[in-house]
Amino acid sequence: MTPPIDILFIGGVGRSGSTLLADMLGQLPKVENIGESQYIWERGVKANDLCGCGNPFRSCDYWRTVGDSAFGGWDEVDVDGLLALQAEVDRNRFIPQLAAPSMTPRFEAKVSRYVASLRALYSGIRDATGAETIVDASKHVSYAYVLRLARGLKTRVVQSIRDSRGVAYSWAKKVRRAEVTDGDSYMPQFKPGSTAALWLAADALLHALAPLGIPVIDVLYEELITHPRQELERIVEFAGIDPADLSFVGDDWVELAASHTVSGNNSRFVTGRVALELDVDWETEMDLAERRLVTAVTWLGLKRHGYV
Ligand SMILES: [Zn+2]
Repeated sequence: MTPPIDILFIGGVGRSGSTLLADMLGQLPKVENIGESQYIWERGVKANDLCGCGNPFRSCDYWRTVGDSAFGGWDEVDVDGLLALQAEVDRNRFIPQLAAPSMTPRFEAKVSRYVASLRALYSGIRDATGAETIVDASKHVSYAYVLRLARGLKTRVVQSIRDSRGVAYSWAKKVRRAEVTDGDSYMPQFKPGSTAALWLAADALLHALAPLGIPVIDVLYEELITHPRQELERIVEFAGIDPADLSFVGDDWVELAASHTVSGNNSRFVTGRVALELDVDWETEMDLAERRLVTAVTWLGLKRHGYV
């Protein structure tokens, strides 16, 4: 019997340092950071957006090898069918069904088909790279619930979390998407109140995975930036990764090599020595009324994580 594939899933709300965290973990030997696999069908296989290495997805040798190994080539994948299936299974509104002890036969059949494709993808990555752990920074909570149901995967969850006020401030700004090369495309913007509600829900739903058998730890963005080595050591132990040489991490910098990532924050294209600087613009720039709103909505979570 082949051993299960170790998946280290990074969950949480975007703009919480998850891309940097995944990039850092990807520097460890036998650990592959693939970025946000949730978007591989739409933005990779279909739209041919840029891989983290700078090549269009379909021209990247790494992904070509994975596609051949997993599916006999990407052209063999029914992308539209898979996207339709994803919309019917992998959304937060389906979490109650995904977490239930039993599913309706119809829903279960869809989940089975969806997870079979994911398992094939991860197997392809393991076969093509020899990786012992795959870091998936998809972030979306429902995806973690889907992975829990996939036989042959051993999923652990790292919640990437940041002060809700910083997250809300960041999502209210306009940011260009770097991986889209034909014309300008911008990241969606969200009102601070909406981000606050998402933040609270993500925290609760990710922790609700623990009693369902999926180990979960929290990694605070603020800790990752100020104590990077300590945080990485903690994750390495949690994930059962062999303790490795962490010489790529300094007190306030990290040395990053390019990785073949799908989607994610623009920072995934940055390589070489990267300074770790805490982004706390929100503390001085955020509108006071919005700051009060986000503080009030997320108060219990802020308290639980030591932010207030
Ligand atoms: Zn690539």
